[in-house]
Amino acid sequence: MPPLADIALPVPLDHTFTYIVPPELQQSVSLGCRVIVPFGRKNSTGVIVGFPSSTNVKNLRPIHDVLDSKPTFSEEMLKLTRWISDYYLTPWGEVLRAATPQGLGREGKRVVQLAVENVEELIASLPKRATKQRTILQSLQKQKRLSLGQLQRRSSAKSIHVLINEMTSKGWITIEDDVPRTQAKPKVEKVVSVPTAVQSRLKNLGEKAAAGEFGLTKKQIALLIELVEMTELSPEPLSETLALKKTGSSLSILKALQTKGLVELSTREVIRAATFDGIEPPPVFTLNEHQERALQEIKSAVEANTYKTFLLHGVTGSGKTQVYIEAIRQVLATGKTAIVLVPEISLTPQTVRRFKAHFADDVTVMHSQMSIGERYDAWRLANDGRVKVVIGPRSAIFAPLKNLGLIVVDEEQEASYKQFDASPRYHARDVAIVRASQTGAVVILGSATPSAESYYNAITEKYCLLEMPERVDNARLPTIEIVDMTKERIRRYDALKQEVQQTGKPFPKRLPHSSISKLLEQEVAKRIAKKEGVILLQNRRGFSHVVECFECGFVEKCDRCEVTLTYHTPKKHLRCHYCGFVKKPPTICPKCQGFEIRFHAFGTQQVEGELEALFPDSRILRMDLDTTSGRGSHDRMLRQFGAGEADILLGTQMVAKGLDFPRVTLVGVISADTQMLLPDFRASERTFQLLTQVAGRAGRSNLAGEVIIQTMQADHYSLKHVLLHDFPNFYKEELEYRRELDYPPFSRIALIEFKGARENEVQHHAKKFAEFLLDEKHKKYLIVLGPADAAIPKLRNQFRKHVVIKGLRREDPSGAYLRAALRNAKKQYDESALRKMRSVQMILDVDPVGMM
Ligand code: ADP
Ligand code: ZN
Repeated sequence: MPPLADIALPVPLDHTFTYIVPPELQQSVSLGCRVIVPFGRKNSTGVIVGFPSSTNVKNLRPIHDVLDSKPTFSEEMLKLTRWISDYYLTPWGEVLRAATPQGLGREGKRVVQLAVENVEELIASLPKRATKQRTILQSLQKQKRLSLGQLQRRSSAKSIHVLINEMTSKGWITIEDDVPRTQAKPKVEKVVSVPTAVQSRLKNLGEKAAAGEFGLTKKQIALLIELVEMTELSPEPLSETLALKKTGSSLSILKALQTKGLVELSTREVIRAATFDGIEPPPVFTLNEHQERALQEIKSAVEANTYKTFLLHGVTGSGKTQVYIEAIRQVLATGKTAIVLVPEISLTPQTVRRFKAHFADDVTVMHSQMSIGERYDAWRLANDGRVKVVIGPRSAIFAPLKNLGLIVVDEEQEASYKQFDASPRYHARDVAIVRASQTGAVVILGSATPSAESYYNAITEKYCLLEMPERVDNARLPTIEIVDMTKERIRRYDALKQEVQQTGKPFPKRLPHSSISKLLEQEVAKRIAKKEGVILLQNRRGFSHVVECFECGFVEKCDRCEVTLTYHTPKKHLRCHYCGFVKKPPTICPKCQGFEIRFHAFGTQQVEGELEALFPDSRILRMDLDTTSGRGSHDRMLRQFGAGEADILLGTQMVAKGLDFPRVTLVGVISADTQMLLPDFRASERTFQLLTQVAGRAGRSNLAGEVIIQTMQADHYSLKHVLLHDFPNFYKEELEYRRELDYPPFSRIALIEFKGARENEVQHHAKKFAEFLLDEKHKKYLIVLGPADAAIPKLRNQFRKHVVIKGLRREDPSGAYLRAALRNAKKQYDESALRKMRSVQMILDVDPVGMM
């Protein structure tokens, strides 16, 4: 049997593919290298994941080419991506593709050039059989620049990449990627330097004599002198462009100096990293007692070199970030590396600057807003060990750092750690824990409001719980007040009645809606007068059509699932999107017998309008997805607000997190209900988290902070505990509710979505899949719900149906049965006639964070 290789390909099939390694590639293949293989009638790019000794597969085809001279994936990354593939039921090749750094693609045009001076000599020295190499060199000699495709045709080499990689490593040629938008290459810059001998000669002789001795014109000696001066000021070689710009000289003058041997021109690689201005030396302070205790625990775990997860539960402003920084310092001192995951939303230059201040060039950022070139550089720096700390959002968990000692997951409860919109639908926090356990690293999950899942793991001692209950500055927690908007409305209604009686004006047909209470209005006015900052939160997502009683705030819930029912416009009914339960909307409120039943949906834009009317002279900054889409706009707004250039910062959850502005003394929540009433079993938890977070923005200094929360659900348990800053008791209540209804952490959920243009087809697919899941053997372990309409039942003309499966943890702690059932159902589905119909799409999401 010829040598074989197993290749993971990005195709929707649950296995790898075996290929023959042809003799000419046997030197070039290694585990983790990307290869080009024939697949069907086309070529496909995959990754070598194994070298089997035999196979039963007939008609094997050979690998065409090897793309990498060094493996893109280490064994460690192969193991991790393999786990992701198994756990999230995603083809391994797709996971690998997602983990492939941007800029390493092969689709672009690669251009090859000669790198040796004397080609004739080189060609003459080649052994006779090196015909392909000879052809390549000769072609390049004639034509200077040729694409890989052209060279392949001329040399008729099948594995042109291997050949070219080999010739590159011998220094004969160079490859450039010609399409910077999709491909990246190291960026080089021309630099100029003045040899030290020339420098000292110039000093000794003085300007005039030197000009005479070197035979220079006025302009030439002037440039030389300036270059020497600039060289003395900067330890690095000078950039040619910059030098010419600064001196106002020209390239021809510079070239003349070069010809005389007075300057040296060369190139160096520039690292494209986002630049951060305003990096100040880090403040020096001693950690307080809580920080010190947490750090000691983490340090001894790092020293022990074994896997361990900490849940660092510290109130906002308790100095968690400082603990991460000190822990990283320790990790670097032991020669290891670290990854810091932050939620998309808080990857602000503010955060990055703080780490840069401590670790300078040891840190790099990996972020989707960076250019492809920047990302490519960051990846290479990490891979080559030239940086030791990588900060980034969820995808940074794939950073190719070796010898990993620590992974920090800041704000571990954040939903943005879950990739929900593309395969693989992984959760970066959970992947972090797996990566650490595979490599013996330590994990710190940090949060002021941990997820119910992580908190449960901590109190059941799967994780080690570290508590930091006090703020570092001894600042008091802000006072929190709740405004019951139902009462507010009644007050307004009464005032209106009085006004009508006194003035004789007709009573308005519809009550005017105001989203700002009297109390909030007064408090905002006070802050504007005192030039203190106000943050207002209105977390309205695109979707929030609940039907609500205008008088008491009553909202209908599903009898079976305890989640808010959503109003469905075309059919004019209320629906539970978990179980499919349908109900007519009430015409009279079942709670207060009121008959003003209304839809509710209020966004930041409407609130901005109301604020402008109330405070015409104030400066308002609105921060939401619409106003922060431009690069850097988020940062700019925050700086403006921090500098006191605006009175009110109004926004969605973006304003709730991580901001640290001492001038803010008032935080207002326009409606706590937008979050609370989302039809999702995590709605209460998210409300508690969001309100606690945003409350933490008030009073970050010696100025006392105040928080005003407006709601129609004033006696909801999540509010009650926010009011008292009572985390443990909120979770006690929340976990009770989760246990009763078999929600995570007491179960594992998988969501299977079907979508397509014809509703009956979509329904049929979903129903079939649910049947495949309902295997007798699994009954004890699993609960299958649905099919039911998704919360957004139709999106972009596609009908959406959900099947939800819950795996009970007490029966199936590892989730093995759940995955087996899913795999089995998926197999039956794939093999049935249904799968051939392209009109319905199936999406499988394990551990979904949103159920909408
Ligand atoms: P968290 O991440 O918990 O919100 P931070 O680490 O950002 O808290 O700390 C809040 C502020 O307090 C920061 O400005 C930080 O520089 C400062 N700080 C942190 N630890 C200390 C300390 N031990 N003494 C004084 N100031 C500290
Ligand atoms: Zn229901």
